[in-house]
Amino acid sequence: MAQSLQFEHKWDYAPAPEKIPVQIDDRYGLFINGRFIEPASDKWADSINPATEQSLFKFAVADQSDVETAVAAARKALPGWSGLPAQERAKYLFRIARRIQERSRELAILESMDGGKPIKESRDIDLPEAAKHFFYHAGWADKLDYAFPGRKAGPVGVCGQIIPWNFPLLMAAWKIAPALACGNTVVLKPAETTSLTALRLAEIFQEVELPPGVVNIVTGAGQTGSALATADINKLAFTGSTQVGKLLARQLAGTGKRLTLELGGKSPHIIFDDASIDQAVEGIISGIYFNQGHVCCAGSRLFVQESIMSEVLAKLDIRLASLRVGDPLDKNTDLGAINSRQQLDKINEYRKIGVEEGASLHQPSTSELPDKGYWSQPCYFADVQPAHRLARDEIFGPVLAVMSFRTPEEALSRANNTPFGLAAGIWTDKGSKIFDIAAKLKAGVVWCNTYNQFDASSPFGGFRESGFGREGGRQGLRAYLELS
Ligand code: NAD
Ligand code: MN
Repeated sequence: MAQSLQFEHKWDYAPAPEKIPVQIDDRYGLFINGRFIEPASDKWADSINPATEQSLFKFAVADQSDVETAVAAARKALPGWSGLPAQERAKYLFRIARRIQERSRELAILESMDGGKPIKESRDIDLPEAAKHFFYHAGWADKLDYAFPGRKAGPVGVCGQIIPWNFPLLMAAWKIAPALACGNTVVLKPAETTSLTALRLAEIFQEVELPPGVVNIVTGAGQTGSALATADINKLAFTGSTQVGKLLARQLAGTGKRLTLELGGKSPHIIFDDASIDQAVEGIISGIYFNQGHVCCAGSRLFVQESIMSEVLAKLDIRLASLRVGDPLDKNTDLGAINSRQQLDKINEYRKIGVEEGASLHQPSTSELPDKGYWSQPCYFADVQPAHRLARDEIFGPVLAVMSFRTPEEALSRANNTPFGLAAGIWTDKGSKIFDIAAKLKAGVVWCNTYNQFDASSPFGGFRESGFGREGGRQGLRAYLELS
């Protein structure tokens, strides 16, 4: 049963498109040994702008021999890079961070064009956070022995890194910065729908004269990723779906290669009746609709205490109707384009499943969606039952499952009733409740009276089917070091 929410718009925003011209080449080769080269595979694929359905550029599809060439370049560069005085390695990281800042406007536009996310998010979150990761890890490079007192810290070796499409440049930064700070060399594979900003980061590596082979970038889809996982690497860092993560864990078992996995989530967001409700509603909104819901730690299971359910939903309805869906390059856009046709189909499938399962769909009726492009209205389902697929599966879109609870114990047991364990949120005015519940939630990150807060110094990662290993902070260095 679909319920349309009607709210009268008194006024509207004028268009505010980000207009500075950006240059995009027709095609990008593989970045190996400090240069862009043609792929031996001679295969190319289109990267689509999801807001227009037009091809933006062609990227090389690396095959096994291309991947092996990249890994060999990283292997060759390893002794030189790990042998540099640590403060010299730090200088490169500082330079990379500075160039990201200097080119941030251009990179933000490219990120929004290739991936569909709103420019205000790529400009204010992805880009500053990406620079921050290089700054932060530049600071660690010559202090690694102090990070783990009494032990000697050395690099792991050649690191294969595979990343998803939801935060393309930021995930590249999360992976590359700690690896380089710790003296490793890298072969990175971006996601096939969003390789542009990683390739432009390669330009920055050229600008700062990073020694050839220290970072190599191979583009392509799952087969390229699989070739990287099975190549002669010492460590694999993977961020992506739980399904592929499990496959990789099986592939790497017994090989001696180190592995970290950052996988999916279905994070609980708990609102107690003593919470500041207006603020909690803002938390709910950013928790699920930020980046079109393409967020591994999205607060996609909302638990609202029964006594405040109608108030919370009424406020959510009003807020939902004010969200602007459309042109990712417009500075007033709240939800941009869904990253790909495939992801849009998946989201639409779950909307159907939700209705069939008997939950009630709430979405704004006001905004018109553009004809071309992949779009999804933000929505929530009320009357969701814990057994519904809506409450169990990661949807990775702007779809929220709302459930109620009566007591803190019930909230806790229902929140933990999931195979995942990435993040969680709690809203309450009572500090003791926060400490009690946060300690019992099985999640890598628990946000209290806030949501989606990140910092390079704060470790991030999951429990259970959300993976293992941490990224960021002192804890994140551990994945890129051999300690003796
Ligand atoms: P995905 O697993 O399909 O793809 C992720 C990456 O793995 C891509 O680069 C892809 O090309 C590559 N890949 C695909 N098949 C492969 C294979 N067999 N071997 C090696 N590599 C392969 O995931 P996705 O749909 O692109 O990304 C969304 C998922 O990522 C969601 O589940 C989300 O929760 C998760 N994610 C997790 C985090 C985190 O930090 N925990 C962050 C962002 C996204
Ligand atoms: Mn794209």
